[in-house]
Amino acid sequence: MDTTINSSDDYKPLVLVIDDSLDVHRLLRARLRTEEIEFREATDGAGGVKIAEEHQPTVILLDLDMPGMDGFEVLRVLKENPRTLQVPVIVLSGLQSSQDKVTAFDLGAVDYVTKPFDLTELRVRVRAAVKMQRLIRMLANKAQIDGLTGLWNRIFFNTRMAEELGRLSRREGNLALAVLDIDNFKSVNDTYGHPAGDAVIQGLAKLLVKECRHTDSVCRYGGEEFGIIMPDTSCTDAKNVAERIRAAFEQLSWPRHPERKTTVSIGVAAMAGTGALTPEALLEIADRNLYSAKHAGRNRVVASLAQLTGTDTVIRAAG
Ligand code: GH3
Ligand code: MG
Ligand code: MG
Repeated sequence: MDTTINSSDDYKPLVLVIDDSLDVHRLLRARLRTEEIEFREATDGAGGVKIAEEHQPTVILLDLDMPGMDGFEVLRVLKENPRTLQVPVIVLSGLQSSQDKVTAFDLGAVDYVTKPFDLTELRVRVRAAVKMQRLIRMLANKAQIDGLTGLWNRIFFNTRMAEELGRLSRREGNLALAVLDIDNFKSVNDTYGHPAGDAVIQGLAKLLVKECRHTDSVCRYGGEEFGIIMPDTSCTDAKNVAERIRAAFEQLSWPRHPERKTTVSIGVAAMAGTGALTPEALLEIADRNLYSAKHAGRNRVVASLAQLTGTDTVIRAAG
């Protein structure tokens, strides 16, 4: 879900237990049953690493002393892989030496529990690790959110553009990008003050979320500039969406300045087919169309279609 940010974090934590002892698996499963946790189990290091990479568990409980790939080696591999690097690992071990503990922490373990373990203690340690992991996810999400509008920000916009264009370089499809810029916005600020300007920005943001599909990514990527990434959308459809937004925005009335309407200009760049087009190139086409819309008198939509043929790009204005 891309249009807005998912603030509720109600997923069920996944705990991966990597231990060669089936007794330990049974014990943990029984004792952590009340914790609303989903379990995955591996009885050797290599199997555990594979599951961790595929499922990115919330927490890993890792035995150190295992035949074949031991816990230290598993930790090393997990921390070298960007897909598993962030997963907190609690080490479970019968090994008692403080050197082992130091090594485990040095390798990136977040906690260490000595066997035979006290299950009440283990339970609170798992809970603490789950909580920490949730906070980390929330912060990572927040770093991509614009504070004024709650829309995605430019960092997210760039990531999504790269993903979508990467997809179209591998197989045929449609993608459309709309860039929006509020008309004569400086004069709104100058006449009614900055807070009135902010309210206009927020009003447009709300309207965009309402008018766009939940598969679209709506981003505020500059002061009074917005971008909408529309996957699987033809040029005609994107143009219609942009036109609908333009018309709806023009109708809004503003409590701080009911006498003054505001309008928005929109540049749409759609692409169809398959081929290598960089995010910068697509953005440049959309920007050029936005500029044409401004130049032609503002409060309008200008769109064009970039037809990709694998080797060539033909850009056509959309009527
Ligand atoms: P045009 O129709 O050509 O787009 O004219 P404009 O006045 O909108 O264009 P310009 O880009 O020159 O002005 C953008 C203004 O947006 C300038 C800046 O002060 C204002 N701005 C940028 N970010 C914010 C913000 O977060 N809040 C408010 N209130 N104003 C902002
Ligand atoms: Mg501007
Ligand atoms: Mg402007």
